[in-house]
Amino acid sequence: MSTFKAPKGTYDLLPPDSAKFLAVREAIAAPLKNSGYGYIETPGFENVELFARGVGESTDIVTKEMYTLTTKGGDELALRPEGTASVLRAALEANLHKVGNLPVKLWYSGSYYRYERPQKGRYRHFSQVGAEAIGAEDPALDAEMIILADQAYRSLGLQNFRILLNSLGDKECRPVYREALQSFLRGLDLDEETIRRAEINPLRVLDDKRADVQKQLVGAPVLRDYLCDACKAYHEEVRALITAAGVAFEDDEKLVRGLDYYTRTTFEFVHDGLGSQSAVGGGGRYDGLSEMIGGPALPSVGWALGVDRTVLALEAEGVELDIPAATSVYAVPLGEEARRVLFAKVVELRKAGVATDFSFTGRGLKSAMKNAHRSGARYVVVAGERDLAEGQVQIKDMDSGEQEPVALDAVVAELQRRLG
Ligand code: AMP
Repeated sequence: MSTFKAPKGTYDLLPPDSAKFLAVREAIAAPLKNSGYGYIETPGFENVELFARGVGESTDIVTKEMYTLTTKGGDELALRPEGTASVLRAALEANLHKVGNLPVKLWYSGSYYRYERPQKGRYRHFSQVGAEAIGAEDPALDAEMIILADQAYRSLGLQNFRILLNSLGDKECRPVYREALQSFLRGLDLDEETIRRAEINPLRVLDDKRADVQKQLVGAPVLRDYLCDACKAYHEEVRALITAAGVAFEDDEKLVRGLDYYTRTTFEFVHDGLGSQSAVGGGGRYDGLSEMIGGPALPSVGWALGVDRTVLALEAEGVELDIPAATSVYAVPLGEEARRVLFAKVVELRKAGVATDFSFTGRGLKSAMKNAHRSGARYVVVAGERDLAEGQVQIKDMDSGEQEPVALDAVVAELQRRLG
């Protein structure tokens, strides 16, 4: 062990488990790639103001959880706590909304940073795959998002997750509701911080997890009763389209989510095997965000799914991903001459697309075979001086245990044939 450990709230991804993370990222990305979403990558840090404005001054993410820094040049930066603000910033900066058809559909995958109290499923460095559809207001687009996330989870074999759905209204009806909720909250017995939150962002008080607060919230005005006709019709259409696609969901009028930018459709994917950190993903419509960061009006919708928690959810359900062995062929030379000859074969096999590894540092047969076994390879190629003198190598099938000599010249083609 070295003097150093991974920082608090972080962990390392190591083989063989890291293969699960790659598989989860790929499974989430697959339906997006198949549905017109292009890949985008943005920097790991941005100007702090982007998140202050884009995520919201009153959110926990901005007030408590952001890693901020001042560079030697005096720039105020923050490690990205989420993906949407950066993706929209990049799309606006490159004028993607002007040069192509709307919506601009993008997907991303990367690391995010929040200074949170670490616990199982909650880390200071975590991984998301996300999708954003920028510049279109169409219930089918909101439905598409939810259906694609559902498809991603199902393709992994997840079953015990639920989709919670709500509408947060728009700039017509939300202010009226906000007003009504605020006057209700003013009549309650709340602590200082919650009172302040009620003034800045009253909807988030509904999200308070404390039992004494929840008890007082019984009878609070509900947003559904305040939705304007346009929002109601939009939401009904989203619900109908998801239902028609055979995707089950639950209406959850309390779902407000922790970011300020959401309007109309909001949704969360929760998994019942994860304890308190049950949200595996979430998203929604953010029609006002572009204007909040200085862009034109661009109604948009998106989601981010947490890779770490999706892996935990798979473990909670006991789902074993079908991950093929990384190595198909393992080469074991016996002696110096065999090393040179087999190493050349390994290079040739790799060029031919066969996943191949080699027994390095001239181990004895026994420990080399142990490593071959551990590699998961289906075939082991063994060659000693006598084999080479006869112009052949031995191919051992690790499943059946059978071993057969094969001409050195034919070994690449033979292994390709056997591996199909
Ligand atoms: P949010 O941007 O907070 O809606 O997060 C979207 C998803 O990212 C969540 O549903 C989680 O799966 C994941 N996530 C958010 N914060 C963390 C964290 N601190 N640790 C691990 N996963 C997280």
